[in-house]
Amino acid sequence: MKKFFALVLAILMVASLAACNGTSNTDGKTYVIYSDNAFAPFEYLDEASGEYVGLDMDIFAAIAEDQGFAYEMHNEGFDASMGAVQSGQADGMIAGMTITDERRESYDFAEGYFEDGQVLVVKNGSDIKDFDDLDGKTIACKTSTVGGEYAESIKDEYGFTINYYEGSNEMYQAVVTGADAACIEDFSVIGWAINSEDLPLTIVTEDPFNNSFYGFAVKKGTNPELIEMFNAGLANIKENGTYDELLAKYGY
Ligand code: GLN
Repeated sequence: MKKFFALVLAILMVASLAACNGTSNTDGKTYVIYSDNAFAPFEYLDEASGEYVGLDMDIFAAIAEDQGFAYEMHNEGFDASMGAVQSGQADGMIAGMTITDERRESYDFAEGYFEDGQVLVVKNGSDIKDFDDLDGKTIACKTSTVGGEYAESIKDEYGFTINYYEGSNEMYQAVVTGADAACIEDFSVIGWAINSEDLPLTIVTEDPFNNSFYGFAVKKGTNPELIEMFNAGLANIKENGTYDELLAKYGY
Protein backbone atom coordinates (compact mmCIF):
# COMPACT_ATOMS: atom_id res chain seq x y z
CA MET A 1 0.00 0.00 0.00
CA LYS A 2 2.84 2.37 0.87
CA LYS A 3 4.35 1.72 -2.48
CA PHE A 4 1.03 2.53 -4.10
CA PHE A 5 0.79 5.92 -2.36
CA ALA A 6 4.38 6.66 -3.22
CA LEU A 7 3.57 5.93 -6.83
CA VAL A 8 0.47 8.13 -6.77
CA LEU A 9 2.49 10.92 -5.18
CA ALA A 10 5.20 10.54 -7.79
CA ILE A 11 2.64 10.71 -10.58
CA LEU A 12 1.03 13.81 -9.06
CA MET A 13 4.42 15.50 -8.75
CA VAL A 14 5.31 14.74 -12.34
CA ALA A 15 1.90 15.93 -13.48
CA SER A 16 2.18 19.23 -11.61
CA LEU A 17 5.73 19.72 -12.86
CA ALA A 18 4.51 19.11 -16.39
CA ALA A 19 1.73 21.63 -15.83
CA CYS A 20 4.29 24.22 -14.71
CA ASN A 21 6.68 23.54 -17.55
CA GLY A 22 4.02 23.26 -20.20
CA THR A 23 2.85 26.22 -22.21
CA SER A 24 0.79 28.33 -19.88
CA ASN A 25 -1.49 29.57 -22.63
CA THR A 26 -3.35 26.28 -23.23
CA ASP A 27 -4.95 26.11 -19.76
CA GLY A 28 -5.25 22.37 -19.89
CA LYS A 29 -7.42 22.61 -22.96
CA THR A 30 -7.78 19.64 -25.28
CA TYR A 31 -7.84 20.98 -28.82
CA VAL A 32 -10.16 19.39 -31.34
CA ILE A 33 -8.32 18.84 -34.62
CA TYR A 34 -9.88 17.56 -37.84
CA SER A 35 -8.23 15.84 -40.75
CA ASP A 36 -8.86 13.98 -43.95
CA ASN A 37 -9.35 10.21 -43.73
CA ALA A 38 -8.00 8.82 -47.01
CA PHE A 39 -5.08 10.96 -48.13
CA ALA A 40 -2.00 8.76 -47.84
CA PRO A 41 0.79 9.29 -46.98
CA PHE A 42 -0.55 12.25 -44.96
CA GLU A 43 -3.48 10.54 -43.21
CA TYR A 44 -4.94 7.11 -43.78
CA LEU A 45 -6.38 4.19 -41.89
CA ASP A 46 -3.85 1.58 -40.88
CA GLU A 47 -5.92 -1.59 -41.27
CA ALA A 48 -3.77 -3.56 -38.85
CA SER A 49 -4.10 -1.16 -35.90
CA GLY A 50 -7.39 0.50 -36.79
CA GLU A 51 -5.63 3.83 -36.22
CA TYR A 52 -5.19 6.77 -38.55
CA VAL A 53 -1.52 7.17 -39.38
CA GLY A 54 0.54 9.30 -41.75
CA LEU A 55 2.89 12.23 -42.04
CA ASP A 56 0.33 14.83 -40.90
CA MET A 57 -0.59 12.66 -37.92
CA ASP A 58 3.07 12.24 -36.96
CA ILE A 59 4.04 15.88 -37.49
CA PHE A 60 1.11 17.08 -35.42
CA ALA A 61 1.82 14.58 -32.64
CA ALA A 62 5.48 15.62 -32.53
CA ILE A 63 4.58 19.31 -32.39
CA ALA A 64 1.95 18.78 -29.66
CA GLU A 65 4.46 16.82 -27.63
CA ASP A 66 7.14 19.46 -28.10
CA GLN A 67 4.73 22.24 -27.09
CA GLY A 68 2.97 20.29 -24.36
CA PHE A 69 -0.64 20.64 -25.49
CA ALA A 70 -3.37 18.02 -25.64
CA TYR A 71 -5.59 17.32 -28.64
CA GLU A 72 -7.95 14.79 -30.09
CA MET A 73 -7.79 14.00 -33.80
CA HIS A 74 -10.92 13.42 -35.86
CA ASN A 75 -10.32 11.92 -39.31
CA GLU A 76 -13.52 12.86 -41.09
CA GLY A 77 -12.56 13.91 -44.61
CA PHE A 78 -11.31 17.09 -46.23
CA ASP A 79 -14.54 18.99 -46.90
CA ALA A 80 -15.89 17.87 -43.50
CA SER A 81 -12.75 19.23 -41.81
CA MET A 82 -13.18 22.61 -43.47
CA GLY A 83 -16.81 22.68 -42.36
CA ALA A 84 -15.88 21.72 -38.80
CA VAL A 85 -13.26 24.48 -38.60
CA GLN A 86 -15.56 27.14 -40.04
CA SER A 87 -18.45 26.17 -37.73
CA GLY A 88 -16.20 26.20 -34.67
CA GLN A 89 -16.67 22.49 -34.03
CA ALA A 90 -12.93 22.04 -34.63
CA ASP A 91 -10.12 24.25 -33.33
CA GLY A 92 -7.92 23.51 -36.31
CA MET A 93 -7.20 21.16 -39.20
CA ILE A 94 -4.17 19.42 -40.65
CA ALA A 95 -5.14 17.66 -43.85
CA GLY A 96 -2.60 18.19 -46.60
CA MET A 97 -4.30 21.57 -46.93
CA THR A 98 -2.72 23.85 -49.49
CA ILE A 99 -2.13 27.43 -48.35
CA THR A 100 -3.77 29.81 -50.83
CA ASP A 101 -4.55 33.54 -50.79
CA GLU A 102 -8.22 32.78 -51.26
CA ARG A 103 -8.26 30.51 -48.20
CA ARG A 104 -6.43 33.16 -46.18
CA GLU A 105 -9.69 35.12 -46.31
CA SER A 106 -11.34 32.55 -44.01
CA TYR A 107 -8.38 30.72 -42.39
CA ASP A 108 -5.19 31.61 -40.56
CA PHE A 109 -2.35 29.30 -41.54
CA ALA A 110 0.76 28.28 -39.69
CA GLU A 111 4.06 28.09 -41.59
CA GLY A 112 3.98 25.63 -44.48
CA TYR A 113 5.39 22.19 -43.67
CA PHE A 114 5.37 20.34 -47.02
CA GLU A 115 5.47 21.47 -50.64
CA ASP A 116 3.28 19.85 -53.25
CA GLY A 117 1.38 20.60 -56.44
CA GLN A 118 -1.30 18.89 -58.52
CA VAL A 119 -1.19 16.59 -61.55
CA LEU A 120 -3.62 15.32 -64.16
CA VAL A 121 -4.27 11.59 -63.87
CA VAL A 122 -5.85 9.18 -66.39
CA LYS A 123 -6.54 5.47 -66.64
CA ASN A 124 -3.68 3.34 -67.95
CA GLY A 125 -3.82 3.16 -71.75
CA SER A 126 -6.00 6.28 -72.08
CA ASP A 127 -5.45 8.53 -75.13
CA ILE A 128 -5.63 11.60 -72.95
CA LYS A 129 -2.25 13.22 -72.61
CA ASP A 130 -3.15 16.70 -71.43
CA PHE A 131 -6.00 19.13 -70.74
CA ASP A 132 -6.22 19.68 -74.53
CA ASP A 133 -7.64 16.18 -74.92
CA LEU A 134 -10.50 16.71 -72.48
CA ASP A 135 -12.94 18.53 -74.79
CA GLY A 136 -16.47 17.19 -74.20
CA LYS A 137 -15.31 14.89 -71.39
CA THR A 138 -15.95 14.86 -67.65
CA ILE A 139 -13.19 14.92 -65.08
CA ALA A 140 -13.29 13.90 -61.42
CA CYS A 141 -12.37 16.36 -58.69
CA LYS A 142 -12.50 16.24 -54.90
CA THR A 143 -14.92 18.62 -53.19
CA SER A 144 -13.38 21.86 -51.85
CA THR A 145 -9.85 21.14 -53.07
CA VAL A 146 -7.45 23.37 -54.95
CA GLY A 147 -7.47 20.77 -57.74
CA GLY A 148 -11.19 21.37 -58.13
CA GLU A 149 -10.71 25.14 -58.05
CA TYR A 150 -8.07 24.89 -60.75
CA ALA A 151 -10.33 22.70 -62.88
CA GLU A 152 -13.14 25.27 -62.51
CA SER A 153 -10.80 28.01 -63.71
CA ILE A 154 -9.83 26.20 -66.94
CA LYS A 155 -12.90 24.07 -67.76
CA ASP A 156 -14.41 26.53 -70.26
CA GLU A 157 -11.10 26.97 -72.05
CA TYR A 158 -10.73 23.19 -72.50
CA GLY A 159 -14.42 22.27 -72.79
CA PHE A 160 -14.68 19.68 -70.00
CA THR A 161 -17.17 19.40 -67.15
CA ILE A 162 -16.46 18.41 -63.55
CA ASN A 163 -17.96 15.70 -61.33
CA TYR A 164 -17.21 16.11 -57.63
CA TYR A 165 -16.40 13.36 -55.12
CA GLU A 166 -16.04 13.62 -51.35
CA GLY A 167 -12.93 11.49 -51.04
CA SER A 168 -9.78 10.80 -53.01
CA ASN A 169 -10.55 7.07 -53.32
CA GLU A 170 -13.99 7.69 -54.84
CA MET A 171 -12.36 10.11 -57.26
CA TYR A 172 -9.74 7.52 -58.33
CA GLN A 173 -12.43 4.86 -58.75
CA ALA A 174 -14.39 7.16 -61.07
CA VAL A 175 -11.37 7.21 -63.38
CA VAL A 176 -10.64 3.49 -63.00
CA THR A 177 -14.23 2.56 -63.93
CA GLY A 178 -14.27 5.05 -66.80
CA ALA A 179 -17.06 7.19 -65.32
CA ASP A 180 -14.72 10.17 -65.75
CA ALA A 181 -11.86 10.63 -68.21
CA ALA A 182 -9.35 12.01 -65.72
CA CYS A 183 -8.89 13.43 -62.25
CA ILE A 184 -6.73 16.05 -60.59
CA GLU A 185 -4.89 15.09 -57.42
CA ASP A 186 -1.94 16.22 -55.34
CA PHE A 187 1.22 14.76 -56.83
CA SER A 188 2.61 13.03 -53.75
CA VAL A 189 -0.76 11.54 -52.86
CA ILE A 190 -1.59 10.03 -56.24
CA GLY A 191 2.01 8.82 -56.54
CA TRP A 192 1.65 6.99 -53.23
CA ALA A 193 -1.75 5.55 -54.21
CA ILE A 194 -0.53 4.27 -57.58
CA ASN A 195 2.50 2.61 -55.99
CA SER A 196 0.94 1.16 -52.90
CA GLU A 197 -2.54 0.28 -54.10
CA ASP A 198 -1.51 -0.79 -57.56
CA LEU A 199 -4.15 1.41 -59.20
CA PRO A 200 -4.29 1.29 -63.04
CA LEU A 201 -3.74 5.04 -63.24
CA THR A 202 -1.06 7.17 -64.90
CA ILE A 203 0.11 10.71 -64.23
CA VAL A 204 0.17 12.55 -67.55
CA THR A 205 1.31 16.06 -66.64
CA GLU A 206 5.08 16.26 -66.74
CA ASP A 207 5.45 18.56 -63.76
CA PRO A 208 3.02 19.27 -60.93
CA PHE A 209 1.17 22.57 -61.39
CA ASN A 210 0.22 25.11 -58.69
CA ASN A 211 3.10 24.13 -56.41
CA SER A 212 2.44 25.43 -52.95
CA PHE A 213 2.80 24.54 -49.27
CA TYR A 214 0.53 22.54 -47.00
CA GLY A 215 -0.30 24.32 -43.76
CA PHE A 216 -2.05 23.74 -40.47
CA ALA A 217 -5.14 25.99 -40.36
CA VAL A 218 -7.56 27.54 -37.88
CA LYS A 219 -10.65 29.63 -38.57
CA LYS A 220 -9.49 33.18 -39.28
CA GLY A 221 -9.14 35.15 -36.06
CA THR A 222 -9.46 32.16 -33.71
CA ASN A 223 -6.96 30.11 -31.66
CA PRO A 224 -3.91 32.32 -32.34
CA GLU A 225 -1.97 30.39 -29.65
CA LEU A 226 -2.44 27.19 -31.64
CA ILE A 227 -0.78 28.79 -34.68
CA GLU A 228 2.03 30.10 -32.48
CA MET A 229 2.58 26.70 -30.87
CA PHE A 230 2.50 24.94 -34.26
CA ASN A 231 5.12 27.33 -35.63
CA ALA A 232 7.32 27.06 -32.54
CA GLY A 233 6.99 23.26 -32.47
CA LEU A 234 7.67 22.96 -36.21
CA ALA A 235 10.83 25.04 -35.81
CA ASN A 236 11.92 22.82 -32.91
CA ILE A 237 11.29 19.51 -34.66
CA LYS A 238 13.14 20.83 -37.72
CA GLU A 239 16.02 21.83 -35.47
CA ASN A 240 16.21 18.55 -33.54
CA GLY A 241 15.97 16.27 -36.57
CA THR A 242 12.50 14.83 -35.85
CA TYR A 243 10.95 16.49 -38.91
CA ASP A 244 13.55 14.96 -41.26
CA GLU A 245 13.11 11.57 -39.60
CA LEU A 246 9.36 11.74 -40.15
CA LEU A 247 9.78 12.72 -43.81
CA ALA A 248 12.22 9.85 -44.27
CA LYS A 249 9.71 7.44 -42.69
CA TYR A 250 7.42 8.14 -45.65
CA GLY A 251 10.18 8.11 -48.26
CA TYR A 252 10.83 11.88 -48.56
N1 GLN B 1 -3.99 19.92 -51.11
C1 GLN B 1 -5.35 19.92 -51.59
C2 GLN B 1 -6.11 21.10 -51.06
O1 GLN B 1 -5.69 21.70 -50.10
C3 GLN B 1 -6.08 18.62 -51.26
C4 GLN B 1 -6.21 18.36 -49.79
C5 GLN B 1 -6.96 17.07 -49.48
O2 GLN B 1 -7.62 16.50 -50.34
N2 GLN B 1 -6.85 16.60 -48.26
O3 GLN B 1 -7.12 21.47 -51.59
